[in-house]
Parts: sequence; C-alpha cells; structure tokens
Amino acid sequence: MDIFASRQKKLRGHIRQSKADALLVTNHYNVTYLTGFTGEDAYLLLTLDGATLVTDRRFTIQLAEECPGLALIVREPGQMMIPTTCELIQKLKIDRLAIEAASMSVATQQAIAEKLEGVQFVLTTDLVEGLRLIKDKTEIEATRIACEQAAKAFAAARALIRPASTEKEIAAELEYQARRFGAKRLAFPPIVAVGTRSALPHAPPTDKRIDSDDFTLIDWGADSGLYLSDLTRMVVTGRLSPKFKKVYQVVLEAQLAAISFIKPGVNCEQVDKRARDVIEKAGYGSNFGHGLGHGTGLQIHESPRFAKGQDKVLLEAGMIVTVEPGIYLDDWGGIRIEDDILVTKSGCEVLTSVPKQLEDCILS
Ligand code: ZN
Ligand code: ZN
Repeated sequence: MDIFASRQKKLRGHIRQSKADALLVTNHYNVTYLTGFTGEDAYLLLTLDGATLVTDRRFTIQLAEECPGLALIVREPGQMMIPTTCELIQKLKIDRLAIEAASMSVATQQAIAEKLEGVQFVLTTDLVEGLRLIKDKTEIEATRIACEQAAKAFAAARALIRPASTEKEIAAELEYQARRFGAKRLAFPPIVAVGTRSALPHAPPTDKRIDSDDFTLIDWGADSGLYLSDLTRMVVTGRLSPKFKKVYQVVLEAQLAAISFIKPGVNCEQVDKRARDVIEKAGYGSNFGHGLGHGTGLQIHESPRFAKGQDKVLLEAGMIVTVEPGIYLDDWGGIRIEDDILVTKSGCEVLTSVPKQLEDCILS
C-alpha cells in the first residue's frame, strides 16, 4: 500500500467514528497530504470505500504525475466546483457528509446545503490534521532536506553580509541561495532585523543597513518541495557587548534546557515551562512574550504547540517541533534561537545543524 492509500485508510477509521458516510476535504494542505496533489482548487471526497478528487483541466498533466490512479472528476471551463461536488455526493448516495469545519466557509456550506436537501452535515475538526501530527519516514526525510537547504543557504548568505548590506538584500540573498541549493523556495518570508528592529518578533525586512547597529536577527527556512524548515540565528556584525553576551547565553541555556527535556510522553506545556523557567530566573520573564515552539510540516505552523495551556498534549515519536525561546527588549533588540526537533522513540534529534555557540554569531 502506498503512503497515500495508508493515510486514507487511517482517515476512514475516523470518518466511521464520526458516524459519517464520507468526508469532504476542502483544506488544500489536507488534500495534498491525502493524495500527493499539490495544485490549488481541488476538493477530495473520501468515502468509506473510495476517494475522488474534484479538480479542473489546468491540472491534468500535474495530476497524472503526482497521483496516477486517483479517481478524478475534471471540471470543464464553466463547470463550477460546488455543483460538480454536489452531483458526486448525490451520485454516491451520501446521507451524512463530514466537513472540515475549520476550513470550509459558511458560504460554501450554505451553497452545498441548498443543493443537497436532506444531506446531514457532520462538523469535524482536525481529522486530517490529527494524522499530520505524526510524521512518517518520507515526511521526516523531506524535512531533513529542508533543514540542510536552509543551513547551506544561510552559510552562503551570511558570508556575503557587508556593512552596507540592508535587511532586504540579505532576505533576497537567502531566497536566492535556498533555491540554488535545491529548495523550491523559502518556507516563509524571512525575517532579517537589524538592532532595535529585532525586538519585533515578526519584523519584515526594510532598507535598514547592517552597520546601523551591532547585531542582526535572521529567521528563515527552506521549502524542500512540500516540507519546511524554520530556524533563527543571530549575527553579530559590530561590537560584541556584555549585554548581548549575557542575554544570548540566557536564551541559549533556555533552548538547550527545553531540548534536553523533549521525549515521548512529556506534555507540551512542560517543555515551554523548562525554557521559561530559565528566562524568568534570569529576570527576563516578561520579555519572552510568545510560546516556545510549534510543529512544522506541510505548513510552517502546525500542531503541537509548546505553550501554556498545552498540558493535555503529549509528545509522541514522529512529531517535529521548533524550539525558539526569545528575549525582546524595547529600544535595544531581541535575541531568539530556533531549531527544528524530531521527537524519537528514546528522546529527540535536532534536525538543524547551524552552529549556535556565542562565538558562532560573530561575523569575521
Ligand atoms: Zn522561525
Ligand atoms: Zn518558528
């Protein structure tokens, strides 16, 4: 059985448990996860004994390459998505239709309800996302590649940083280098934040020059095709101040404490707390204003999350999660260190290999 057939099989168990006859998958990433199809504008109708993708003529060649053998309904120009999908649901005599409540719009649901009188909707959340939590071999391998591409792109872009480089130029260099090393693109618009701008956890790159301050925060990742990486490193381009040294060591200590704690069975709030305790003890508790990390995969922010309130979520082997503590001081700047961690049967493995000791930050 190929990976898509085995994912569909697992999902059928959940559809049965929801007492539905079929699930209409409308979340684009979930369609990709279940079929391998990466194009847009496709719905997958997964019944208890089959699967049909509703797509359109633009994708026929791509579909033959990405998911040969999958049953298709190819819409012709002018044939609309909702009526076509409704015809299929009627033809298959589906009475109880599960839908993805988190991704289907109210307008779409109403349009389907109007066309399919008598069909009962079963609202579901996280059916497919629940499967996506645990990565299989192919997903882990694709993430490893994304981590390597990010590391190579960073090394190459970092070597080209000059006093006159701007945040935007470094961001562009990262994008170019990632593609040179085989990535499809960067995993998300990178953050390159010089000095005080690094106090904004999500700073978009500007024309600010590297030599306008002493250090720069860079948060980037690669998309190896489907799977993503997500890292943050600091680059000291000017004077290495005692304050930078001190804050950096606290963040690094917090990150290492959390990573060493990661293993199956540990709850996600506890991992966050491990890092938070180190930062609080150093007196910077109020300057760490976000959760410790998030899952990555087909999307850059997935479950699980390392944060307060996540004490019911237990780590399992096969999860991939970032660990990214940060300390942000207004009028000075922010320091964050971020790596991607695979939970293994016996503990964890850090997938990202970019050096992160204090001396590694210094641009020679
Ligand atoms: Zn990041
Ligand atoms: Zn992140």
